[in-house]
Amino acid sequence: MDQPLKSPGQNALADAFHAMFELSRTMPAPTLEERLDRLARLRAVVADNEARFEQAISADFGHRCATETAIAETLLVLGEIKHAARHLKKWMAPRRVSTALQFIPAKNRLIPQPLGVVGIIAPWNYPLQLTLAPAVGALAAGNRVMIKPSELVPRFSALLQETISTKFDATEIIVTGVDEDISMAFASLAFDHLMFTGSTRVGRLVAEAAGRNLTPITLELGGKSPAIVDRSADLGQAAERIAYAKLLNAGQTCIAPDYAIVPEASVQDFAERVQAAMRRMFGTDPDNQDYTSIVSERHFQRLEALVADAAAKGATVMQAAKPDDPGWKSKRKFPPTIVVGATPDMMILQEEIFGPLLPIIGYRDAGDPVAYINKRERPLALYWFGKDDAARDAVLSRTISGGVTVNDCLFHFTQINQPMGGIGASGTGAYHGEWGFRTFSKLKPVFYRSPFNRLADLYPPYGTKIARLEKMLRFMS
Ligand code: NAD
Repeated sequence: MDQPLKSPGQNALADAFHAMFELSRTMPAPTLEERLDRLARLRAVVADNEARFEQAISADFGHRCATETAIAETLLVLGEIKHAARHLKKWMAPRRVSTALQFIPAKNRLIPQPLGVVGIIAPWNYPLQLTLAPAVGALAAGNRVMIKPSELVPRFSALLQETISTKFDATEIIVTGVDEDISMAFASLAFDHLMFTGSTRVGRLVAEAAGRNLTPITLELGGKSPAIVDRSADLGQAAERIAYAKLLNAGQTCIAPDYAIVPEASVQDFAERVQAAMRRMFGTDPDNQDYTSIVSERHFQRLEALVADAAAKGATVMQAAKPDDPGWKSKRKFPPTIVVGATPDMMILQEEIFGPLLPIIGYRDAGDPVAYINKRERPLALYWFGKDDAARDAVLSRTISGGVTVNDCLFHFTQINQPMGGIGASGTGAYHGEWGFRTFSKLKPVFYRSPFNRLADLYPPYGTKIARLEKMLRFMS
């Protein structure tokens, strides 16, 4: 990553970047019509190839539930495109900013401008959504875009590259290859903005590489998102909603509830309700088409190791089947697993789980969940279940997380007018809807001087006129 960019002609990645970079400096910013046309073509890429994307993602995963691909990827991206197209004219308009009294009748405007070339590095878990939802914001804001998808979804990545290249010129938006050396070289390009979605570990490397170019970054990272069940909660409802959010995409969701924290006396009851809800929704048959596979053998083994470690250290493991049961393992389907009696020395409470395992921690005092959470890295999401508004507000005011859903999981993410992003180790910056447009724009403040105000009175020789002006400024300050 310390290597400077290779000169054009030696490296296709650098060539592509330089072509975009040159045009971003020499061409005027794209008009509203040009941007709408790009969004329409992106829409066509997704809509015309929906079935192919669904099949490619499923083949990459082993099996990916088709309904989940439709809801959490295709429709989400199409929704972002529609929303951006509908509001773009307003987003692009210069914004009025009030003028400080002493400068009236001058005026202020905040003018959104494209940054230039935006890089997007995406993970494998929702590959369509996490490559294209950021691209919507970047294209709407008038940028040129380079996308680096994940090597863990090679069929999807090849299809994205092919379909984008048929609808876009290589200076508008391109999809790169996915080799390891491309990842490093990509993060070292002098983008005008780099958006990374992935693990906190790789996020640090990407931030370092971007820092060398002073490239601004958005980091959408992971971590351990807690689900707090308050004493006032409807236990059955909380169990069902947490179970669903945990098993969506087989737990391979950045904002999945990582662990549940439940009043001690209710832990066993809650665990049984979660188990019943998991069985009701996803059954106990590995051939269930609603239940998604784990993306790779390595990821499957990591989950097995988390469970084995918890069991060896004394936790009670509740599983629909053993993970090494050939019916499950051959399809890389990991049986839904509940871990009761998890303790902080267990790996399952130390690293992001990213799979269908739910550890349940018991608490005694109302303040315990907040104390537990605040001793750890700031989470990407926090979920709170209950009916006691004062207890809820105490938790909301004393914890910081990327986002919160009250009395359910995941849904703050789906609110297109809310910013999506983490804090600290779970990320920096945000996107979705207008937040994405702003992330990928320079909001440039412009001051238009008026011929009529008295700024010239500030020029020397100062004499008594400045004394009068100074007196006025002191009065106003
Ligand atoms: P990852 O960090 O392993 O990889 C993410 C991307 O970075 C991939 O494209 C990978 O090829 C690339 N990469 C790897 N090494 C690199 C390097 N040295 N330089 C530049 N790029 C490099 O993450 P993953 O396993 O693909 O995804 C899972 C993680 O992503 C989880 O931690 C999850 O929480 C997180 N995630 C976060 C969000 C969010 O919105 N905050 C969404 C989805 C996933």
